[in-house]
Amino acid sequence: MDLFKNVIEKDLCIGCGACVGQDRLGNLKMEWNDFGFLVPKRESLSKRVDNSAIKVCPFNPSPENEVRTENELADLFLTGAPNFHPKIGKYYDTYVGYSNEFRLTSSSGGLASYIVKELLMKGIVDAVYVVKETISEKYHYEYTPIFSPNEVLSSSETKYYPVTLSNFFKELSTINGKVAVVGVACFVKAIRLFQHYNPEIKDKVAFLIGIICGGVKSSFFAEYLSAKTGIENNNYTNPQFRIKDLSSTASDYSYRCKDLKGTHHSIKMSAVGDMWGTGIFKNNACDFCDDVTTELADISLGDAWLKPYVKDGRGTNVIVTRSQIADELIKSGIASKELSVEQLTLAAFLSSQQGSFNHRHNALGYRIKKAENYDRTIPPKRHDKEKISFDFKYVQDKRMKIRMNSLLLWKKTKSAEFFDNEMSKDLTNLKRLTKIYHHCRAFKNKLLKL
Ligand SMILES: Cc1cc2nc3c(=O)[nH]c(=O)nc-3n(C[C@H](O)[C@H](O)[C@H](O)COP(=O)(O)OP(=O)(O)OC[C@H]3O[C@@H](n4cnc5c(N)ncnc54)[C@H](O)[C@@H]3O)c2cc1C
Repeated sequence: MDLFKNVIEKDLCIGCGACVGQDRLGNLKMEWNDFGFLVPKRESLSKRVDNSAIKVCPFNPSPENEVRTENELADLFLTGAPNFHPKIGKYYDTYVGYSNEFRLTSSSGGLASYIVKELLMKGIVDAVYVVKETISEKYHYEYTPIFSPNEVLSSSETKYYPVTLSNFFKELSTINGKVAVVGVACFVKAIRLFQHYNPEIKDKVAFLIGIICGGVKSSFFAEYLSAKTGIENNNYTNPQFRIKDLSSTASDYSYRCKDLKGTHHSIKMSAVGDMWGTGIFKNNACDFCDDVTTELADISLGDAWLKPYVKDGRGTNVIVTRSQIADELIKSGIASKELSVEQLTLAAFLSSQQGSFNHRHNALGYRIKKAENYDRTIPPKRHDKEKISFDFKYVQDKRMKIRMNSLLLWKKTKSAEFFDNEMSKDLTNLKRLTKIYHHCRAFKNKLLKL
């Protein structure tokens, strides 16, 4: 299998940059592609790329048996976890709550910032790779190592913006001490593969904080939202994707950025329409990921899209602990009253991510069949056998079309008004099809209960 032919040219690259670190010939670097994603490119077309680079790719179509799926990797790395559920993988426990210190300065309940701080304070690691604002002209955000608990606040908040870990993978062998990384599922999988194939650095990675992810967005997402706030021609800085409204619900957040004079502009996400269920500006690879809850991390953190928590605009996390050290960090935070966290039943946890399970597990087999028509080989999956109804197939077709068209259209126009006009017919159709699917599902569920 060839990294370029089988992954990048098939639009299955997520931009993690593990291949750049694995390529001992040093011929790869990350660059923006035409659709606002970071992808590896050859520095010199006449030079080779290390054959083993594809082995650490989370979308390698032919992984070796011992790392075939997340299940095999979990058996290698999460050996102590006493529980397993096919939807969320190996785990210790499930919780819900927030950090008293970080809740208001974070996107959900501030658990990610809390864990980063604890790892550094307790000396469990010497550095944590987090996503921080950068002064680079090329990016708004970048993975950066932080070394002190005082730096934690600078990394808080969710950035729906492409980032890459290529520098981390390149630097890892030269780093002194132990490190932790905060990352979404495919990035965490790439780190596990990298540890597996580079046993000499395996123990350097002492902890992984998993961010539960519904899909990675192109940089077009920030460009579009900035245009919606009234800033044209990409003349924006400081994109902030999750400005809370403390007097409203958790999902009623805003996007905010600055113009070149430093004036803030913002827009409520509810005024922009559904940016998640539609697949707008999403990376194609995300449609072929069945790891909804970042199964290979020590701890997984997401939004508590669940009553009663969703009603609280201050934000609340759902939490899955998967290693003993992670479970102890949560328990000690509860005991010291730094965390307002309690156990959550597995059923309640599952329902907090129901939409993602429906799309990423139930409908995956259908999307894989479609992808095979385009000569794409998808890596082995655990959730590719589920069958879906005709009405849900129509929803899938429409989502795939909208995802692709949103990228093609924004590349061409960069005008929010034109984009909205051109997309509106498909988005309205998707809304109708989704309504029909929901009605049919409710009717079938009623029949099943009779
Ligand atoms: C692309 C993306 C999609 C998501 N989709 C979902 C979803 O569908 N369902 C759900 O429940 N939750 C989702 N989340 C997670 C959610 O938005 C919060 O990040 C999570 O609940 C942690 O919140 P917190 O308050 O504990 O984090 P904070 O305390 O605010 O800290 C945020 C942490 O996330 C890290 N971070 C920020 N941006 C990124 C990034 N792009 N990649 C990797 N790390 C990053 C920062 O380094 C920081 O450590 C998504 C997050 C991202 C980045």
